Amino acid sequence: MLGLMMDRPLLISSLLTFATHSHPRAEIVTRRVEGDIHRTNWLGISQRSAQVAHALARLGIKPGDRVATLAWNTYRHMELYFGVSGSGMVLHTINPRLFPEQLAWIASHAEDRILFVDLTFLPLVDAIRSQLKSIEKIVLMCDAAAMPAGRSDLICYEELIAPEATHITWPDFDERTASSLCYTSGTTGNPKGVLYSHRSTVLHALASLHKGALNVDRDSVILPVVPMFHVNAWGIPYSVAMSGAKLVLPGPGMDGKNLYELIDNEQATLLLGVPTVWLGLLTYLDSIGKRLDSVKHAVVGGSAAPLSMIKAFDEKHDVFLIHAWGMTETSPLGSVNAPTAELMALPKEERYKKQLKQGRPMYGVELKIVDDDDNELPRDGKAFGRLMIRGPWVTKGYFHHDAEVLTDGWFDTGDVATLDPDNYMQIVDRRKDVIKSGGEWISSIDLENVAVGHPAVKEACVIGVAHPKWDERPLLLIVLKDNHTATKAEILGFVGQHIAKFWTPDDVIFVPDLPHTATGKLHKVPLREQYAQHLMG
Ligand code: AMP
Repeated sequence: MLGLMMDRPLLISSLLTFATHSHPRAEIVTRRVEGDIHRTNWLGISQRSAQVAHALARLGIKPGDRVATLAWNTYRHMELYFGVSGSGMVLHTINPRLFPEQLAWIASHAEDRILFVDLTFLPLVDAIRSQLKSIEKIVLMCDAAAMPAGRSDLICYEELIAPEATHITWPDFDERTASSLCYTSGTTGNPKGVLYSHRSTVLHALASLHKGALNVDRDSVILPVVPMFHVNAWGIPYSVAMSGAKLVLPGPGMDGKNLYELIDNEQATLLLGVPTVWLGLLTYLDSIGKRLDSVKHAVVGGSAAPLSMIKAFDEKHDVFLIHAWGMTETSPLGSVNAPTAELMALPKEERYKKQLKQGRPMYGVELKIVDDDDNELPRDGKAFGRLMIRGPWVTKGYFHHDAEVLTDGWFDTGDVATLDPDNYMQIVDRRKDVIKSGGEWISSIDLENVAVGHPAVKEACVIGVAHPKWDERPLLLIVLKDNHTATKAEILGFVGQHIAKFWTPDDVIFVPDLPHTATGKLHKVPLREQYAQHLMG
């Protein structure tokens, strides 16, 4: 017997309607690409999202069509988030940090019909325009005054939406309808498209609000440095609409100076970003001797947070660093290490150790670890295996890609992890990055985390390279901080205090910089090629 409750669809437009009714005056503050600070609220976003929807319909864009963006975190991007998906079209957020050829490939694969571009990225689009074959129109996200002269091929965003009505009745449709599309950065092979639905997006936002996750409510002031061009800025545009929190959008200003200014002026309480962004902010704050007074929590994810970062946030700024894990394929939040009374009661060093873990799954997603034969491994905090995930905001396949991606209904994350008896998950490594030395496993992440704790080290990268006796051994690459020096012996001496002896890297190489992927992660593929023979004598 079925229950007798309404089947109201979980649509992204319902978030906008809710925000407009319940917190119309909640602020959305943007550092604009034009350089100034812009202020609006949910009423403004709602009216202009309606104008976007009307304008797209006038241009002949239909439900299901892909609308692409190459844009920073701004109020105009928010209007596209709601105006495009709310109309039943699919918002394809493109990562401008991809190689231009990859970017063109993605736009063609997605069959994007129209592209909205921030001023910053116009040169990038111009360089590959001839390869953007499916794109019929390009809209520059600015007002008439900022439009470049003599560009009749471009539409001005403000002129496009200005004549349209500020009210709309958002259409009702199946909640499983596609809402947005984001491609994985693809360190090998072509990127793959993850196609989110209205249902997955709303459920993910709902789960992310509560205290065991991001702990967002009406009193929060949220500053997502995580870009809206990658995994929907971890769902923040949607969860903010649900919660009525004040939203502060940094636009292109992601460096320490610009971030600090915005955090301080707007009194941000919650920040979200990847470790490299926090490193930049912490270094800047050290250099000017300032503290993060308003901030209570900062979320870190995308790569592992090192102990030194967790400590620096706590000891210098009294900020709890919430370690979270996720993937493009998981919307992205899969697990969160939120503060609990139990955690806060621990002696500091013990708490920091626990904060190194990537946290517990939120209700809705399930995690398990398995061996190579898909047998489930114990949750004892020691056994490590392939991390599998399932849940209503986890992908079951890629866009226009036939291959089966699930194993018995579970998605294989490509990560190796442990789960402890309290369901805290800790990433050991990416499966392809684990170093197999004489039958034992060495975690490149753990080694990197220890190495960046050395006061002279800015960034560390560990790769496994071929070894005549042990199959593979760790090689440590180091970027030193400006005006700092260190020797190989000093680095190895420091690292050796924190690891098992057989984990000691076989060599340390000082490099001026390290390669990163479009999402800011260490890009180890070219390094493995470059140093393949380094230990072979
Ligand atoms: P992406 O799809 O580009 O967001 O990358 C997802 C991958 O980033 C995951 O499979 C992990 O390998 C890595 N990752 C994300 N968050 C963390 C974290 N907190 N610690 C370690 N690795 C992480």
